[in-house]
Amino acid sequence: MGIIIPAGILFGSSYTLFIFGYWLPTVSPLLALSLSTVTIAGYYNQGQKNLAFTDGLTQIANRRFFDRYLEQQWGRSQKENKDISLILCDVDFFKLYNDTYGHQAGDECLKKVAQAIKESVRSNDLPARYGGEEFVIVLPNTEPQAAISVANRIRLRLKKMEIPHISSQASSHVSISCGVSSIKTSNAVSYKELIENADRGLYQAKKQGRDRAVIAES
Ligand code: GH3
Ligand code: MG
Ligand code: MG
Repeated sequence: MGIIIPAGILFGSSYTLFIFGYWLPTVSPLLALSLSTVTIAGYYNQGQKNLAFTDGLTQIANRRFFDRYLEQQWGRSQKENKDISLILCDVDFFKLYNDTYGHQAGDECLKKVAQAIKESVRSNDLPARYGGEEFVIVLPNTEPQAAISVANRIRLRLKKMEIPHISSQASSHVSISCGVSSIKTSNAVSYKELIENADRGLYQAKKQGRDRAVIAES
């Protein structure tokens, strides 16, 4: 429609002018019009797509994109018989953070956690907001020890930001607990196992006192 309607107007007006003895070129404006319409439509579509896969608050990938990426990387790891790892991070005593500093400050804190994660992962790793104050990182082609290193790098980077959290019983600053899991895809039925294991690791990290990364044995 963006091309047909303006093209109709262009042809109609140049024909009318032609009847009155004026000559208006039509081919080059039509070409320019078509190209710009296609470019704008493409740009708009891409923008919509990015919005659908980005978390509004933290500007990292959302849960929907994470699901797709994990499924895709799982398939790839199966083909190549490689390890795939996952890190699940949860902010410690975050309810108390909101209660102490307010929901707005809580939002700002979540942005900083996302930033610490983004700055600590490698180019092939995908950080995403898993939901609420939980974040997840997919690490394709990554062995357990390397995944633990990434988890600890994230924790330390966040610590260096020194975001005060006076109500936390784990640290004087905002901290996270991480559950790490790693699987050789040929030994597993589904990628759900990877998530379940990371969840177990996270549960253990919380139970052991928070502010740490724990790997769950599969
Ligand atoms: P734990 O150390 O066991 O993880 O304790 P917790 O307080 O962090 O865990 P809990 O699940 O009880 O609380 C999570 C809190 O995170 C509750 C909820 O209000 C808050 N939260 C979730 N999403 C958002 C958000 O987008 N913004 C803000 N400000 N708070 C959020
Ligand atoms: Mg939580
Ligand atoms: Mg929490």
